[in-house]
Amino acid sequence: MSANMVAVLYLLSALLFIFALRGLSHPESSRLGNIFGVVGMVIAIITTLMFKSVLSYVEIGSAILVGGAIGTFIALRIEMTALPQLVAAFHSLVGIAAVFVAAAAFYNPSAFGIGNYGEIGMSSLIEMSVGTFIGAITFSGSILAFGKLQGTVSGKPIVFKLQHTINALILIFIIFLIFLFVTNQSPTIFWTIVLVSILLGFLVVIPIGGADMPVVVSMLNSYSGWAACGIGFTLSNNLLIITGALVGASGAILSYIMSKGMNRSIISVVLGGFGGEQAASSASDNSDKIVKQGNAEDAAYVLKNADSVIIIPGYGMAVAQAQHALKEMGDILKKEGINVRYAIHPVAGRMPGHMNVLLAEANVPYEEVLELDEINPDFPMTEVSFVIGANDVTNPAAKTDETSPIYGMPILDVEKSQTVLFIKRSMATGYSGVDNELFYRDNTTMLFGDAKKMCEDIVKSLN
Ligand code: NDP
Repeated sequence: MSANMVAVLYLLSALLFIFALRGLSHPESSRLGNIFGVVGMVIAIITTLMFKSVLSYVEIGSAILVGGAIGTFIALRIEMTALPQLVAAFHSLVGIAAVFVAAAAFYNPSAFGIGNYGEIGMSSLIEMSVGTFIGAITFSGSILAFGKLQGTVSGKPIVFKLQHTINALILIFIIFLIFLFVTNQSPTIFWTIVLVSILLGFLVVIPIGGADMPVVVSMLNSYSGWAACGIGFTLSNNLLIITGALVGASGAILSYIMSKGMNRSIISVVLGGFGGEQAASSASDNSDKIVKQGNAEDAAYVLKNADSVIIIPGYGMAVAQAQHALKEMGDILKKEGINVRYAIHPVAGRMPGHMNVLLAEANVPYEEVLELDEINPDFPMTEVSFVIGANDVTNPAAKTDETSPIYGMPILDVEKSQTVLFIKRSMATGYSGVDNELFYRDNTTMLFGDAKKMCEDIVKSLN
């Protein structure tokens, strides 16, 4: 295939990727966006496989088969609720791939058209070492994020003295190592950059915990894009550079949106240390307070007699896969003439857009699904807030308790409605580990049980 043809096809793929991102920016156009992305990727892969420089289709085909089989197996088995950690695990693979590609180019530069071993051009060495640095940080940071989301590592922030100074010194050391590597092309220095960057990846993520994890997940998404962009430079592949930059930039924008949603500055989240520390003390403070409990019949009665209901879904709805039963309940209430709307907090669930995806899956009309800013002014005029498996995103401590680790995070003002119905299985805390004083308020009724089962029982009572 001629170089011009490759350039045209790569340009087409890049355009399709941009249309894909555009499509993914709204639920209604997201399916079309996905199709653009898939077509763009198919064109990109076929074009790349047509390169004259491809030496062995057998090796590439075997790698695609093995990798594809593993990916398909995991994707078929994965629970919806485990998607965030799966995404984190995939980011780690992008990171380590960037390191391996850089290593391959370093040891066999002639295969990449960047000179001979020990005589690589300066710009290639800089691209290679920066790509390695970002790739290694993405690798270790994502592994730790995976552990925190999976629960194998404590989700609480781990903070120690001089943490930021140590991180800054390590960063300066890495810049110094890159300088040394560019001047003497030593393999020892190359691998030292890899190891120290891996260490920095762990150190950057350990102080971040509790409710601030969403920003880390989207930041690692951005890093994985920049790592891919770095590989693109090493391989002199324009499409990979463009695609990596698209992922990197969109991940960075998402991180910005998420931090705004959390009312944190990105820098303060990167430097870390929020969330979770106070959970135990605040939990014990509330141990002697009275909690009002109800059952499905009580809930059905309250809901049926309301004029307006706002449904607040959270992570527990995803765990229970309660979205279909919830939609059924919402439909019955609408038939009774009740104004039913859904309120989505930007960090509800465990991944950006988690609740939107689940509600869309249950065919909840988009116009009934409102963002925090749109719906918050309506809570004081609302009779029933129906909180289903959400916790942190409703916690008033974020507004009132300056000592709370979630202080400053905007929350859905459910406590301002006349009645709050709260479905969850126990008095346990949410992801941030902070107790929710809303459970003890006079206008709150706790509906203990699995979210799906409770919705089904409410539907039965309503019928
Ligand atoms: P929370 O984690 O605060 O609370 C979820 C609640 O759901 C729990 O308290 C749990 O209580 C309940 N629950 C779990 N399973 C069930 C079930 N089967 N049926 C009924 N209830 C259930 O979730 P929110 O959505 O309110 O907040 C999200 C949190 O996750 C925030 O702290 C956010 O920062 C964090 N986070 C968000 C990410 C994102 O990208 N959106 C990524 C990483 C973290 P119980 O055990 O008593 O049932």
